[in-house]
Amino acid sequence: MNTTELEALIRTILSEQLTPAPEKKEICTKGVFGTPNEAINAAHQAFLRYQQCPLKTRSAIISGIRNELAAYLAELAEESATETGMGNKEDKFLKNKAALENTPGIEDLTTTALTGDGGMVLFEYSPFGVIGSVAPSTNPTETIINNSISMLAAGNTVYFSPHPGAKKVSLKLIRMIEDIAFRHTGIHNLVVTVAEPTFEATQQMMAHPKIALLAITGGPGIVLMGLKSGKKVIGAGAGNPPCIVDETADLVKAAEDIINGASFDYNLPCIAEKSLIVVDCVADRLMQQMQAFGALRITGADIDKLRAVCIQDGVANKKLVGKSPSHILQAAGLSVPPKAPRLLIAEVQGNDPLVTAEQLMPVLPVVRVNDFDAALALALVVEEGLHHTAVMHSQNVSRLNLAARSLQTSIFVKNGPSYAGIGVGGEGFTTFTIATPTGEGTTSAKTFARSRRCVLTNGFSIR
Ligand code: NAD
Repeated sequence: MNTTELEALIRTILSEQLTPAPEKKEICTKGVFGTPNEAINAAHQAFLRYQQCPLKTRSAIISGIRNELAAYLAELAEESATETGMGNKEDKFLKNKAALENTPGIEDLTTTALTGDGGMVLFEYSPFGVIGSVAPSTNPTETIINNSISMLAAGNTVYFSPHPGAKKVSLKLIRMIEDIAFRHTGIHNLVVTVAEPTFEATQQMMAHPKIALLAITGGPGIVLMGLKSGKKVIGAGAGNPPCIVDETADLVKAAEDIINGASFDYNLPCIAEKSLIVVDCVADRLMQQMQAFGALRITGADIDKLRAVCIQDGVANKKLVGKSPSHILQAAGLSVPPKAPRLLIAEVQGNDPLVTAEQLMPVLPVVRVNDFDAALALALVVEEGLHHTAVMHSQNVSRLNLAARSLQTSIFVKNGPSYAGIGVGGEGFTTFTIATPTGEGTTSAKTFARSRRCVLTNGFSIR
């Protein structure tokens, strides 16, 4: 080495000692990873930092999500309808809007206290850690918006398992939420997922030791899989909501509400009216009124054609789930009227597969019964003890009470469309995760938090 080279080397060494090494910037992965393991580890690291943040940071993320996603709801609704091939963009927009605006934030985590001669006890809600959230294809973006707000409000971070059939729109939304959360916290990976959300990835997630809680929104298969995982599960499973109408009901309102509820997003919501059970003396008038509001009544041998395409091997034909009434008519080889019907109705027996299978299609079977007692008895059979949702139209308070008490559903809507039960056009907050088999019901931030007890002896009782 000559003198010049030696001087250059000394200068380099000296400058390295004087100038601190540049801080390693976090690589902006935007929440999407190659494997569940990488994603969950990243969400766990994020949780350790998020746990140190004050409550106002959580509120800031939630306000950011509400403010910034509003402009994208129409786009997300359209992409969701296109990618899944189910439902319609107009109703999906309303569902996303309800999730964004009406999911409670940190105000849901109310502290309670007990005081007495022995001192004071505080009951507070704390986060679990990383939650594994499984979202369905029927409400993909609504569930991700709703769960993100609830779970982040409760101080958790989230690994999402979107439905493979809604991969593109779900990943886009998760990246957007991750970015908003990062800009309000400086912490990456508060919400994460994988680039290929396969069934195998969901299985790996369920077995991962750093997943503290599973929140599963989907059909019976996936909820059961979660229940077998050995982890705590909030299971939001399938339903088959019956709708009872008795002779005291306001028939015009009932007809309109039922059409609105059963046709909403082509009947994809798990809470939507899936069968109508009506007492004989008002059945004809109710169906006429429903026709006046845009229902098409299918009769005679056409019902057999309809059943043959809607139900296959005893379950809903996946190809027709969430399709429009006109599409279903065409598939059944039936003529489509010039004015597209909003809902197809067909009078059938109580044990018809159209009644007993969860269809998720704008096809509402109507069962005529003698009286209210028979209606309630059938509704109990149709609901199958799923404890999901039921609807009833009646002015008789005793009957409404009896039905609500007997059915024991997580949601019971009286004299309104089913979606009033998830805070769309009805009182109350919005949720798209209705925990039925595990009993938490309509979930919100506090559902995704641990209840903890903090005791101070001999003090802070000022009574
Ligand atoms: P689905 O059960 O097919 O899928 C739900 C989720 O589970 C998806 O993310 C899917 O990828 C995953 N999954 C399914 N099978 C899997 C497997 N073998 N391995 C790993 N992951 C698997 O449900 P769907 O068709 O998307 O949604 C409709 C169902 O969900 C209906 O039964 C409906 O009632 C129910 N649902 C319930 C609620 C509720 O809040 N209770 C809300 C929406 C939908």
